[in-house]
Amino acid sequence: MEFDFSYQLDAEGINPPSMKRVGLFGSTGSIGTQTLEVIRANPSLFSVSLLTAHSNHVLLIEQALEFLPAVVVITQSSKYALVKEALSPKGIMVLAGEAALEEAASMDCFDLMMAAIVGFAGLKPTLKAIETGKNIALANKETLVVAGDVVMALAAEKGVSIIPVDSEHSAIFQCLVGEVSNPIEKIILTASGGPFIGRKPNYLVNVKREHAIAHPNWSMGAKISIDSSTLMNKGLEMIEAKWLFNLEPSQIEVVIHPQSIIHSMVQFKDNSIKAQMGLPDMKLPIQYAMAYPQRIPNDFPRYNFAKSATLSFDPPDYKTFRNLGLAISALNRGGNMPCILNAANEIAVYGFLNNRLGFLEMTEVIEQTIAHVAFIEHPTLQEYFDSDGEARNFAATLINL
Ligand code: NDP
Ligand code: MG
Repeated sequence: MEFDFSYQLDAEGINPPSMKRVGLFGSTGSIGTQTLEVIRANPSLFSVSLLTAHSNHVLLIEQALEFLPAVVVITQSSKYALVKEALSPKGIMVLAGEAALEEAASMDCFDLMMAAIVGFAGLKPTLKAIETGKNIALANKETLVVAGDVVMALAAEKGVSIIPVDSEHSAIFQCLVGEVSNPIEKIILTASGGPFIGRKPNYLVNVKREHAIAHPNWSMGAKISIDSSTLMNKGLEMIEAKWLFNLEPSQIEVVIHPQSIIHSMVQFKDNSIKAQMGLPDMKLPIQYAMAYPQRIPNDFPRYNFAKSATLSFDPPDYKTFRNLGLAISALNRGGNMPCILNAANEIAVYGFLNNRLGFLEMTEVIEQTIAHVAFIEHPTLQEYFDSDGEARNFAATLINL
């Protein structure tokens, strides 16, 4: 499917920010809470119109009492009564259940969606927000991994901007602003290497949840922390980049850069390489995506070149971190393969987080699921949903969930 994302890079055509009304989907997570920090620091630029959470009703209520949105959604319906009791007296509309996310996404109380739900659950509300004309600040990479062609084509049709929040993609986006008509030779995604950089399978076979979750440079939600430790995160990001920037798989490279100072790079056809740099802090890409095309001042800690002398770069260890290779195969094959990979990975990570399978067994679950679910070259949206369901069920049976 062909689409052209370059209209998003034409910052001239975008009005400077008036007050943006934000719909924050996944407000209780790592990205969600950091988004609220950015909004709290910039009350003249952003207001909160909508908050959603899955299970953490205590934090959701606290956030809603501070920011007074028009609507909140709690997807775990058993928490509905508690949330309603706390927020109805403030005149806040409270909705519950999975379907309420789509209902909320189509409401006109917000202009910008911060898509910060984790996993496949973020896809449907994001599609609904695009359909109803909202710009998207996209943290939820799984949305593009699962159905990137459908999502980007719908965004182009509706003239909606999808501004990446993922730090690597934000870096690439920032390198591309002002380069609308200049062809890209390739992009180079940097990867920290995660907590197990340099380790071999004989070590990894014994690692547990608490080791894998402790990322050296970033503090993130549980699922993406595990994905970072297996390098699946980088594979998902390669697929995300393909769709965001309309690239061929051969134009997407990965390099291990343990310091996480260069957030990613673009090499143009004149052989010039642009990089975006800074200390690792998700608040910057969050703020950039929300304020685009503006850069707003902040007091985040600054990188000091005089203090940190070494920036190093190495190729990934594909032999040890086999999930990255599986993701690259899915990227090359296309069709519903990334969707199947993503579903199997979500189940495998869930299994690992709940001590149902070992670190290296996650790869086996993904491999077997990919081999089991039928390949479709040009899936419809419904076929993506079906492939996700089938892959999820199969992977779950493999680990007796
Ligand atoms: P978290 O696990 O910290 O937060 C996830 C959010 O989604 C929470 O608000 C959670 O609600 C909600 N949620 C979980 N499951 C469901 C569901 N089934 N339906 C609706 N809502 C749900 O994740 P992160 O903030 O780390 O990541 C969010 C997304 O951003 C992911 O796609 C991740 O890949 C991406 N991302 C994150 C980065 C980071 O630094 N954290 C960096 C780059 C990308 P509750 O807490 O109430 O259960
Ligand atoms: Mg990233």
